[in-house]
Amino acid sequence: MNKRYDVIVIGGGHAGCEAASAAARTGARTALVTHRRDTIGVMSCNPAIGGLGKGHLVREVDALDGLMGRVADTAGIQFRMLNRRKGPAVRGPRTQADRKLYREGMKREIFNHVNLDVVEGDVFDLDVTEGKVAGIILSDGQRYACAAAVLTTGTFLRGLIHIGSERFPAGRMGEGPSVGLSATLERLGLRLGRLKTGTPARLDGTTIDWDGIGRQEADEDPVPFSFLTEAITTPQIACGITRTTSVTHRIIEENIHRSAMYSGQIEGVGPRYCPSIEDKIVRFGERDGHQIFLEPEGLDDNTVYPNGVSTSLPADVQEAFIHSIPGLEHTRILQPGYAIEYDHVDPRELSPSLQLRKMPGLFLAGQINGTTGYEEAAAQGLVAGLNAARLAGGHDTHTFSRSSSYIGVMIDDLTSRGVTEPYRMFTSRAEYRLSLRADNADERLTPLGIALGLVSTVRKERFERYQNDLADWRSQLRGVSLTPNEAERFGISLNRDGQRRTAMDLLAYPDIDPGKIRAIWPELHAMSERIAAALKIEAGYAVYLERQESDILALRRDEGVSIPPDFDYHVLSGLSNELKTKLSSKRPANLAQASRIEGMTPAASALLLANLRRQG
Ligand code: FAD
Repeated sequence: MNKRYDVIVIGGGHAGCEAASAAARTGARTALVTHRRDTIGVMSCNPAIGGLGKGHLVREVDALDGLMGRVADTAGIQFRMLNRRKGPAVRGPRTQADRKLYREGMKREIFNHVNLDVVEGDVFDLDVTEGKVAGIILSDGQRYACAAAVLTTGTFLRGLIHIGSERFPAGRMGEGPSVGLSATLERLGLRLGRLKTGTPARLDGTTIDWDGIGRQEADEDPVPFSFLTEAITTPQIACGITRTTSVTHRIIEENIHRSAMYSGQIEGVGPRYCPSIEDKIVRFGERDGHQIFLEPEGLDDNTVYPNGVSTSLPADVQEAFIHSIPGLEHTRILQPGYAIEYDHVDPRELSPSLQLRKMPGLFLAGQINGTTGYEEAAAQGLVAGLNAARLAGGHDTHTFSRSSSYIGVMIDDLTSRGVTEPYRMFTSRAEYRLSLRADNADERLTPLGIALGLVSTVRKERFERYQNDLADWRSQLRGVSLTPNEAERFGISLNRDGQRRTAMDLLAYPDIDPGKIRAIWPELHAMSERIAAALKIEAGYAVYLERQESDILALRRDEGVSIPPDFDYHVLSGLSNELKTKLSSKRPANLAQASRIEGMTPAASALLLANLRRQG
């Protein structure tokens, strides 16, 4: 054995970086073992972080002192708050990122991390001793010992790239696949599946006719992802907007049989919500065009990412259809688009801590669990790294609840329902989304992060100062009030019920903003914009949140009732045989997961609960 670590993380992608950092932050001696040091923080596909649902995950990772948010703040070149006109619960922070700045920023974080070594190498196998993971074996024969390992191999497991009829093994373009570990996972008796994803061609921005197409500007007041970032200082740029044409559609239709996906060459299932251009033409052929965002990949990089036209058509067809798009008539293609197929593990093999039920000490995170996206990977990485470190240190693992985070929603969805296609986050997946907002991620999760030992002193102190300020201002706003008659003098018309309303009550009205409140009570002028915006949202949601509270309490209660992994459902004589079989195969981790299984009734849940109590 070369060296011994508490936690070894395999893979330096988005899941691996967060896993390694989370484990190291809690004090575990950690190694990040990855193919190449210089590919740490690489974005395999689109140069962007955040978006609807995904932006919530980035804010949550940040609230737990993870890396993605603050690295994106240094690399973001087009910040936009999506759904700005809709309610705060569904707003999604997003930025296009300068690929190089992002990679460099992530490398800086990882290479300068306390308790963290980076080892270059290809992990070929795991050392399993007495039914537990005890170390890793590299393809050059080196061995490292550990108390727990986190596997985050992304799209690399038996990865196979397709461009038309051409196909070759690869983890992503220009990098070899990971082969040995798939055999290891099969040997452990895990259910593996095959998924696929795709990426568009990359274009030479100097050959695009930018004047002939639309533009999308960045927000004038970019909102950072990280609680620790005071302001965005990286220059902000516009991106181009164009559309496919009827000629594009004809070219694709005529050549559809040459697409790797439609020729039957690809067996893996792709992401329905992130379809290739072939998929869009076949499924929504009646549309007269599909929008394409032309996203520059960096401030000093002429490469452009055409968002919306991922494809597995042969290079000559890609050339022809790209040239049929306005603004791209004379564009040079730098790298053709491609699809990639890879192995993933059925996430129902995992407990909510992201540890494999069949292999103590082995945690999985990221694309290997059937998800797609950097943010989904990062959020799982943080949880897996945290729990691997807790296990190594002899502590109980921590489960994130659906009622307090999107992280909890995602992990519960994955581990209880599994995936039939690459899983990506949406706000609609969260039943308690009014309280799981991007803007309150710190309040929801930083106290937990402090308790779990994940949060630095700097963040802890800044967070506590901010919370104190917020509480002070909240009580000041509750301490001043006026009658409807007095409000009239400030141009505010209220129901003439004679009731006094506090400044906080007034903020709950959609058309009363903090500026109006300050005009009435000049002593509120010193309140910062950040605090004012937070209290405005809090006031607006107060009544809805009260209604949601009892549902949340019921869920938390049921989540607290865990079901032993070897529980025998056949002893429950009041359950149908069908339900017993379903419960035995899905193995829910707690009562909340059991009650979401199709066919479970409140009576069945009550029966299960009574039995668990008797046994417990
Ligand atoms: P990755 O970022 O893939 O990182 C895996 C890391 O593990 C790499 O550093 C690799 O070198 C290392 N590694 C693997 N095996 C070993 C081993 N045996 N030993 C040592 N190191 C190892 N996401 C979307 O949201 N939308 C999309 O449209 C989309 N399209 C994509 C298209 C393509 C072609 C690809 C490749 C990815 C696409 N993605 C897309 C997915 C996105 O890139 C991933 O979701 C994200 O990168 C997953 O992060 P990860 O950490 O799980 O894995």
